[in-house]
Amino acid sequence: MPTIRELIKESEEKLDANNKDCNVPKVLYYHVSNLQPHELYLKMDEEVPEDIYKTYSEYLERYLNGEPVQYIKGKEYFFSREFSVDENVLIPRYETEELVEQLLYRIDDYFKDQEEIDLCDVGTGSGAIGISLDLEVPKAKVVATDISEEALKVAKKNNDDLGANVTFYAGDMLEPLIDHHVKVDVFVSNPPYIPQDQNIDPMVKDNEPHVALFGGEDGLYFYRKIFKDVKKVIKDRALLGFEMGFDQREIMEKAVHEYFGDTPFEIIKDMNGKDRMLFIYHNLK
Ligand code: GLN
Repeated sequence: MPTIRELIKESEEKLDANNKDCNVPKVLYYHVSNLQPHELYLKMDEEVPEDIYKTYSEYLERYLNGEPVQYIKGKEYFFSREFSVDENVLIPRYETEELVEQLLYRIDDYFKDQEEIDLCDVGTGSGAIGISLDLEVPKAKVVATDISEEALKVAKKNNDDLGANVTFYAGDMLEPLIDHHVKVDVFVSNPPYIPQDQNIDPMVKDNEPHVALFGGEDGLYFYRKIFKDVKKVIKDRALLGFEMGFDQREIMEKAVHEYFGDTPFEIIKDMNGKDRMLFIYHNLK
């Protein structure tokens, strides 16, 4: 057996030659061995145990074959918490953490005098947004929906593992909310927004669920579907927050005007300076 140092070095060279992320060998080794970085550091010149070698080699092979490291590990961090993920859910993204952060500021601002608020996360996937908000805003009662039963299984596991208290409903977009007579103060969604025929990273396209990625011809199919009926599921005063594509400002502004008239709204940039979040202030400003 090689030493850990030798194994990792060999893997890094292999990944480098294939233009892949050279941090992955260490990430996989931590995961397989259950070692913390400082523990691994002290063991670098020890031989790799045989069982670890076997699992590690399988995982590295899967990564080399194009599988995202998050699915191999079955885990991804979101807003400082570790969420379980599998191929039935979108891997939570940094950009979406920014949506949660921006929502927290606005919830503080607009609902500070309210003792309780009702909130929904439509198309919750792994539950990343809804569960994070439930844990960050103790006075929020959170409902989350998804059309995929497989996704909801993952979200419910995350809810239980992280000690959150979200109510989950299966169904298409607003349908389950309408059926259950849900009316919210805060409506949140990160719907699929990639235009149907847009070229995207093969690692994303070949592995992540297409039902979570693609949003029709111009990417706005699901927003229009939401905008059309959203008044049925929001209260008289409500905040609406969405993630959106970086190149959708113009068509999004048009769609918001079309469905909400003169209601104030904002499109906010992410940390990369790209248009990424939409907030609609229904009777708030
Ligand atoms: N709400 C989940 C997330 O933001 C899933 C979004 C999706 O599948 N489009 O990670």
